[in-house]
Amino acid sequence: MSDELLDSLKNLVGKNGYLEAGDVGERYYTDPRGTGDVQPAFVLRPSTAGELSDIMKLCHAAAQPVVAQGGMTGLVGGGKPLGDEIPISFERMNRIEELDTKTNTMTVQCGTPLQTIQDHADQHDLLFPLDLGSRGSCTIGGNLSTNAGGNRVIRYGMARDLVLGVEAVLSDGTIVSSMNKFVKNNAGYDLKQLFIGSEGTLGLITRATLRLHRKPRSQIVGFCAAPGFDAVVDFMHHMQSAMGGNLSAFEVMWTSVYHAIIDAVPTVKAPLSRDYPFYILVEVMGGRPEHDQHVFETTLNEALETGLIVDAIISKSQSDVDDFWRVRDSMAEAMSKQHSPVGFDISLSIGDMEVFAAEIDKRLAASCNGVRHFIGGHLGDGNLHLVVAAGESDPPPREQIESLVYGLTGELKGSISAEHGIGMMKRSHLHQSRNPAELALMRTLKNSLDPKCLLNPGRIFEMPGTNATDSTHSSELL
Ligand SMILES: Cc1cc2nc3c(=O)[nH]c(=O)nc-3n(C[C@H](O)[C@H](O)[C@H](O)COP(=O)(O)OP(=O)(O)OC[C@H]3O[C@@H](n4cnc5c(N)ncnc54)[C@H](O)[C@@H]3O)c2cc1C
Repeated sequence: MSDELLDSLKNLVGKNGYLEAGDVGERYYTDPRGTGDVQPAFVLRPSTAGELSDIMKLCHAAAQPVVAQGGMTGLVGGGKPLGDEIPISFERMNRIEELDTKTNTMTVQCGTPLQTIQDHADQHDLLFPLDLGSRGSCTIGGNLSTNAGGNRVIRYGMARDLVLGVEAVLSDGTIVSSMNKFVKNNAGYDLKQLFIGSEGTLGLITRATLRLHRKPRSQIVGFCAAPGFDAVVDFMHHMQSAMGGNLSAFEVMWTSVYHAIIDAVPTVKAPLSRDYPFYILVEVMGGRPEHDQHVFETTLNEALETGLIVDAIISKSQSDVDDFWRVRDSMAEAMSKQHSPVGFDISLSIGDMEVFAAEIDKRLAASCNGVRHFIGGHLGDGNLHLVVAAGESDPPPREQIESLVYGLTGELKGSISAEHGIGMMKRSHLHQSRNPAELALMRTLKNSLDPKCLLNPGRIFEMPGTNATDSTHSSELL
């Protein structure tokens, strides 16, 4: 970066608007897996969309690349600065601007932490249902840019489904404001969708209008065991039929995951014995607590009688709910305690999941000496988290494991990224989930919105003529 640009940027944002040299802490260049590399010399911290727009005008004129940073909880190396990129941290754009109880919407700045949004909705007897383990640190800007998922997608959808309006700044500084509060808007292209899930490569999200839901009055959780994968799927359909829209989570753990959690995480109480092939956490949220509890218990009893499940325990208190969820939420911790774990976050058609599990077992056994694998995930969304860990011997090269897993995912026409995005970490495998016409259209979009390739260069895919090369690997142990 030239001294001239540096001075102009400093003058523009004032002394609270930037950090330099020793003041740039680790949080501006490390991610949850500690894969920080080089400390950037300079970080920008804009406080308004207008200021960001002026920053981008200067960067555009000087062809200066930038990288957007929310809470830096992303798992694919997207926010980590590379080369001479200037990090733009949204930590000062963290205000809730409005909660509108007529439209059930909340308007927020992009750097607002997810948990702040959840708590604010809760205080008004409303619910913002997006929920991730990183809720205390991740920001809504990061959630929208990655189209985050989480545990309640089966009922409320992904981040994309929970937003009505977005404001974004383009690479030349243009502010595009599509901040409507209504659900239906077919007046031309739905422009906000360009910025949701595009990982900061097409525009920088500055504000959003979020869609809130009425807060449910009941939350009931069952922890169940099933005798086989077909029974798991039939059980999910049984619950969907009986509970309708009240079904809010259906989380599945293969037996190896359950054992790993019980063995590795001392704070977890085992709700059921270790004898079963599959464990399921099923949750409903409704409006009539006693009625919901009765229907839930009856439905689970029917499943027991027909053999869809072989054991079950139902929550009777909030502390039971918390205990059952702690089992599922401890998957990441249990996996991180394995030997050299390599994590994957993939999507498959439910009909292919059993084939995938059997085939990956066979392929890993054939070519990766002694490795173990663990599978769990959000079954209703077709999303599996797979972790491959070394056994007694040295771990096989990560690339070998990745090529087996992504190869099989591609053969089954699945997605190599269900919810975490592509970032730097998965871009060499993107072609295994996207065909050449799709990839070409993605490049066309990037080229029209950001022809100088200044916004998060090299994330998702490389553009010809750019050199954002980084072989960072992180792992997705969730
Ligand atoms: C314990 C844990 C649990 C997790 N669970 C889940 C889960 O269940 N589901 C899930 O989907 N993810 C999960 N994640 C991953 C992560 O929390 C999400 O990807 C989250 O949405 C990232 O938000 P962030 O603010 O931390 O974004 P960052 O990590 O700061 O950024 C992520 C990407 O978005 C870009 N970006 C950030 N802000 C903006 C902006 N305002 N405009 C444009 N681009 C921007 C960045 O450049 C980067 O490419 C988990 C992570 C952890 C550590």
